[in-house]
Amino acid sequence: MTSLYSSAYARSLDSQDTLAHFRDRFAFNEPDLIYLDGNSLGRLPLAGQARADEIVARQWGRRLIRSWNEGWFDLPARIGDKLTRLLGTEAGEVIVADSTSVNLFKLVVAALRRQVGRTRILTDDLNFPSDVYILQGAIALLDNGHALEIAPSPDGIHGPIDALQERLDERVALVVLSHTVFKSGYVYDMAAVTAAAHAVGAWVLWDLSHSAGSVPIDLAGAGADLAIGCTYKYLNGGPGAPAFLYVRRDLQDVLANPLSGWMGQHAPFDFALEYTPEPGIRHFLTGTPPVLSLALIEPGLDLLLEAGMDALRTKSIAQTTYLIALWEEVLQRRGYTLKSPRDAACRGSHVSLGHAEGWRINQALIRELNVLPDFRAPDNIRMGIAPIYTTFTELYEAVERLRRAVDDQVFTRYSSQRAIVT
Ligand SMILES: *Cc1c(COP(=O)(O)O)cnc(C)c1O
Repeated sequence: MTSLYSSAYARSLDSQDTLAHFRDRFAFNEPDLIYLDGNSLGRLPLAGQARADEIVARQWGRRLIRSWNEGWFDLPARIGDKLTRLLGTEAGEVIVADSTSVNLFKLVVAALRRQVGRTRILTDDLNFPSDVYILQGAIALLDNGHALEIAPSPDGIHGPIDALQERLDERVALVVLSHTVFKSGYVYDMAAVTAAAHAVGAWVLWDLSHSAGSVPIDLAGAGADLAIGCTYKYLNGGPGAPAFLYVRRDLQDVLANPLSGWMGQHAPFDFALEYTPEPGIRHFLTGTPPVLSLALIEPGLDLLLEAGMDALRTKSIAQTTYLIALWEEVLQRRGYTLKSPRDAACRGSHVSLGHAEGWRINQALIRELNVLPDFRAPDNIRMGIAPIYTTFTELYEAVERLRRAVDDQVFTRYSSQRAIVT
């Protein structure tokens, strides 16, 4: 068998890549930098730069407050409707607002209040810790005897399907899971988990932060109840861009937004003193949206829609599979372990490698070897692949630098002291 481990082979894969030209539509300023952090902060689409100029200079600078009626007021719903095409659902079921954490809080409180008599909330120990903090905060606020159950993953990589199933009974109000988990990249079977929860009358809230723009999502097909997610990761919406939330149509007027604010009010400019929620998805808005960040979601989203989620997924699987094959051939014997699923069917678009010297290797990569992955404690070097702009050659070169970090003992020049933002 010929070795996969050659730059010529990587270049041949790139030359067959039908999505390769999308890379030219993003900002690249450092040719030698290998950016594998598109799952934390996606790259800047070139059209985003032009859009920012348009919004700042013309819409704000010239049109001033008139811009609210010239498109700003409709932005949360308009971009939400566009997002439904990536999320497998219909216009009117998604809206853009607030942060992922705040949206989680709103939907959890709304759901728990409606699931009267049910006191359990189920999650897993692979979930993003902030999501768990929000659940704890919601339980404390409601002060109504709710308990959080955290099902343990069998191996720290795969979702605890059996442990979740065992805990699912009619006491469960809500199951809250990251669809693609942030460390290992494991992807849940949304339809199967949703069906199991529905069988006992529970609802499921999916956090799609690491799924939106990275794996195909079919909220409608799964009969999903609720979802939230980030726009600044694979969607390339820019730092701190507002998040999205999904509420299935038949639940929209059943659930009440606990952060009832004027943007969710029916006829907000009547300035009535009694809150009357606007029917539909809109009453899940709270206050004035961050227009600049909100509008800048669209250029990245447009690129993903143009490329098509099926083609992106095909390339993503080819790339994560290639990276894992290189790990097996080159990195495994250098102490790197695979901390992501082997089965592409339950793997998202990032691959985590462990190493006993993970933190120092990561420092060597960032400061000296010009690779930007990110680090997730205790020892995960997480490599996010954004198929819309990541090349096979970059993955080959990243593996080459991971090899050198160990073979040339580059990591020994770095301390094991942690930074604040990893
Ligand atoms: C990135 C991420 C978040 C981020 O939430 P913020 O409110 O934007 O800080 C939440 N949940 C998951 C699963 C994430 O991956």
